[in-house]
Amino acid sequence: MSKYDVAVIGSGPGGYVAAIRCAQLGMKTAIIEKYSTLGGTCLNVGCIPSKALLDSSHHYHDAVKHFEEHGIEIPGEVKVNLEKMMERKSSVVSQTCDGVKFLMDKNKIDVFEGVGSFKDKTHINIEKNDGETETIEAAKTIIATGSKPANLPFIELDKERVITSTEALKLKEIPKHMVVIGGGVIGLELGQVYRRLGAEVTVVEFLDRIIPTMDAALSKELQKVLKKQGVKFHTSTKVKSVERKGDEIIIKADDKKDKEIEIKADYCLVSVGRKPFTDGLNADGAGVKVDDKGRIEVNEHLQTNVDNIYAIGDVVKGAMLAHKAEEEGSFVAEIISGQKPHIDYNLIPGVVYTWPEVASVGKTEEQLKEDGVKYKEGKFPMRALGRSRASGDTDGFVKILADEKTDEVLGVHMIGARTADLIAEAVVAMEYRASAEDIARMSHAHPTYAEAVKEAALAATDNRALHV
Ligand SMILES: Cc1cc2nc3c(=O)[nH]c(=O)nc-3n(C[C@H](O)[C@H](O)[C@H](O)COP(=O)(O)OP(=O)(O)OC[C@H]3O[C@@H](n4cnc5c(N)ncnc54)[C@H](O)[C@@H]3O)c2cc1C
Repeated sequence: MSKYDVAVIGSGPGGYVAAIRCAQLGMKTAIIEKYSTLGGTCLNVGCIPSKALLDSSHHYHDAVKHFEEHGIEIPGEVKVNLEKMMERKSSVVSQTCDGVKFLMDKNKIDVFEGVGSFKDKTHINIEKNDGETETIEAAKTIIATGSKPANLPFIELDKERVITSTEALKLKEIPKHMVVIGGGVIGLELGQVYRRLGAEVTVVEFLDRIIPTMDAALSKELQKVLKKQGVKFHTSTKVKSVERKGDEIIIKADDKKDKEIEIKADYCLVSVGRKPFTDGLNADGAGVKVDDKGRIEVNEHLQTNVDNIYAIGDVVKGAMLAHKAEEEGSFVAEIISGQKPHIDYNLIPGVVYTWPEVASVGKTEEQLKEDGVKYKEGKFPMRALGRSRASGDTDGFVKILADEKTDEVLGVHMIGARTADLIAEAVVAMEYRASAEDIARMSHAHPTYAEAVKEAALAATDNRALHV
């Protein structure tokens, strides 16, 4: 029987990063993945394919809507070849997954393909796809089994027309009308992909605003911009039934006035969040506790109730984000090797990769109010930047919230071109507990979108933004 210092179950961004860090720290490491490709949700059916389709559909949208204003004329009609777009996406995915396999080999990590389940706290059975079972021994195990799409109890997902994000990433036709249930990140990103490709898109959200966990100003601006792009919204609307009749999907819901509405579509994307995944793991076999939300219970060291077993990523509490899983992967490897790592969960940024992009870190205005923290706000519109006018990306703003007395930056919320990248500046600043004035006094290259961060910091410092 093969023996390891550490076995990692699941090869998503949590699991594969944990495995690399364990190997870097000199531990003999194995990784177990039930699918034939490594990389988990993120690489196979999440972050990477969705971003590939967002980029492709963005190019198409620009060609149809914006090339002309730049003086670029295309003789004839610009057409989408969905099959080719999907092929490109699949090729991006396979290159990225192969990259993870390369990293496993480079770091001498043994890869096992099959479902890992606990025999006991130090032995894991690996049920391979050919029906054979192999058992390995591991002094420590890291559970990184991730998550799966959640559903509403009354919806039957046929995965053809009533679909999750996984199917939405590989449709064979452009929907005529796609209803997206859930105005969160995944629904809006995929909704925008198909809207750009020509589908009518209607978003139905139970709460009173889209992207409800982010700062309310971002929800408002994003909804405004997406509406301009033709996306329809029903907020404060509770879906009651989703029924398929032939190729038609009938969605019934109660709107904000409790009036029943009916929407007909040819595709319905159910994106109501994700749930932790522990099927087949036999957590019980090792005595590992699972909480009432189906998550593996962990302490501040991401250690379960069983001392040699840890858990990370989507399968534990916290934001279901790839970079959160990655941080936890490194963290746990370092804990196991006796180091004292640290993660500041307040500084895990959240991003929506629509265009304009939305990005956020730290406390929202709503949270500061709820916590009774006195704060000041500096806001700067993207439209006032030379860089935004040059590219034509004038929607959005940067908003900085700073402590009223100390000027320490408490939250940064932005929507606009490339904010997914710009947010890194805010994370660095907040990690070093910068004041708004610290950011305001740093030189930002001109012309860049990043100048909006400096200007918002100037506005927060003393209401002295320069270009508004
Ligand atoms: C459409 C979509 C878009 C997304 N976009 C983003 C984004 O842009 N940015 C971002 O930060 N996050 C994004 N996410 C979320 C991100 O994908 C997850 O947060 C991330 O993948 C979680 O990583 P993980 O390692 O915890 O688990 P996962 O990536 O879910 O990986 C878990 C792995 O464990 C394997 N596994 C499970 N049980 C077993 C078992 N018993 N034995 C062996 N293997 C097992 C699974 O097959 C899977 O490969 C997106 C998600 C979706 C669905």
